[in-house]
Amino acid sequence: MAEVVVEEGADFPAEAEVAIVGAGAAGLVAALAAAEAGAAPLVIERDPVPRGSTALSAGLVPAAGTRWQHERGIADTPELFVADLRKKARDTADPALVELVARAAGPALEWLADAHGLPFSVVHDFDYPGHSARRMHGLPSRSGSELVDRLRAAVEAREIPILTEAHATTLVADRAGRIRGLFAARPDGSRERIGCRALVLACNGYGGNKALVARHIPELAGAIYFGHPGNQGDAVLWGEALGAAVRHMSGHQGHGSVAHPHGILITWATMMEGGFQVNLAGARFSDETHGYSEQAAVVLREPEGIAFSIFDARIAAICRQFEDFRNAEAQGAVLTAETPEALAALIRVPAAALAETFAEVARRVAPDRFGRDWSKAKPLAPPYHAVRVTGALFHTQGGLVVDDRARVVRTDGTALANLFAAGGAACGVSGPEASGYLSGNGLLTAVALGRLAGRAAAAS
Ligand SMILES: Cc1cc2nc3c(=O)[nH]c(=O)nc-3n(C[C@H](O)[C@H](O)[C@H](O)COP(=O)(O)OP(=O)(O)OC[C@H]3O[C@@H](n4cnc5c(N)ncnc54)[C@H](O)[C@@H]3O)c2cc1C
Repeated sequence: MAEVVVEEGADFPAEAEVAIVGAGAAGLVAALAAAEAGAAPLVIERDPVPRGSTALSAGLVPAAGTRWQHERGIADTPELFVADLRKKARDTADPALVELVARAAGPALEWLADAHGLPFSVVHDFDYPGHSARRMHGLPSRSGSELVDRLRAAVEAREIPILTEAHATTLVADRAGRIRGLFAARPDGSRERIGCRALVLACNGYGGNKALVARHIPELAGAIYFGHPGNQGDAVLWGEALGAAVRHMSGHQGHGSVAHPHGILITWATMMEGGFQVNLAGARFSDETHGYSEQAAVVLREPEGIAFSIFDARIAAICRQFEDFRNAEAQGAVLTAETPEALAALIRVPAAALAETFAEVARRVAPDRFGRDWSKAKPLAPPYHAVRVTGALFHTQGGLVVDDRARVVRTDGTALANLFAAGGAACGVSGPEASGYLSGNGLLTAVALGRLAGRAAAAS
């Protein structure tokens, strides 16, 4: 239970210059930045091993104007990135925050590569919806587990302590709202009392808290939550108790292509490269290129909340760069057939209807009846593949409002002096709708705000 207690002159047996709650991407990046700025950080993590939603993700971070893009001849600028972010969220996100993170992301990735040895490269062989340049950057396995493992290794190499199996439950503040420390529960029932000069909240959002999801995102109340279960909304609960402003609590990242019942993410490259989704009747029901986030609710509105993602062997070859996709194949989630009729038999949808859907797609009318533009997509060729999928909630995008130093802001607009937020703990740049989520907005604020928060906390 997240709570705040007010204690004047509280004293603590242990003191950290910068305490950081959460050891996902945001917390680990904040720790590296705080240490580089000369402070001694301590990371506090409830799990035995840092994983977070970061480990569940594809680990792809959008950034513009990077050297990896330059090497591939990809023309891109932070201005173009800002325009894409604003367009996807229909100008509902805080424009200053959008500018801040879009400009900070590229330098942050180059710093992680140069100072901490993370071997990023840019995904250059397919487009992500809403990005007008190829700007998603990832590590060799294209997995978030590699990202969090490499960040943890960098933190350990700097001898920054990570206190694991420590569940922060209580913030201690003085009457002026200055954070003095926190209490963390240990598995043996004991409680650590840790003082701090500054505190960074990097404990993500409220996707794992069913009551908060039902209140703020009712359309996904019954959906599978695909993120880290330990993300219970503690940052917003503490923030609200301290008079902090929260914003866009309905904003979130959903995904309309999670293999069911296997529970494996099927990359949206399947759609962007020319695949499509059908329902149990074998019929398409949407423009699949709008974005995977809003597609979660769209798929869940179809009968039984089920769809089939359909693509071909060429697209499958592109998707194999993702560990998740390879796992899906290994687990038998990716079905294969030479004809639409044979595929229909495998997935148990009406053969005539699926054949008609294939024929309709092959006509490549642009735009089609759902508004999809097929002009850039290559026609599908046999063998064909299908994956049974459902819609899921990945993470929440609403959260604590922060300023240009990642300081948490009160409802009256003033900043709390020594409280910072990054990643999913902070309100992101997606606005209040699922459709505002541009691919990578999650790790964008984890990495960009994590670095800013770590630096600013060290200086506070
Ligand atoms: C399947 C999936 C795929 C995704 N793919 C992408 C992608 O490719 N690109 C992208 O940008 N985003 C993606 N996302 C979103 C992305 O994973 C998150 O936005 C990002 O990881 C958030 O980082 P974080 O550090 O804020 O949180 P997390 O990585 O979740 O870390 C938070 C940590 O805080 C800990 N914690 C929570 N409460 C407490 C407490 N009270 N005390 C101590 N510790 C606590 C948790 O245990 C956790 O380790 C994806 C998400 C999912 C679920």
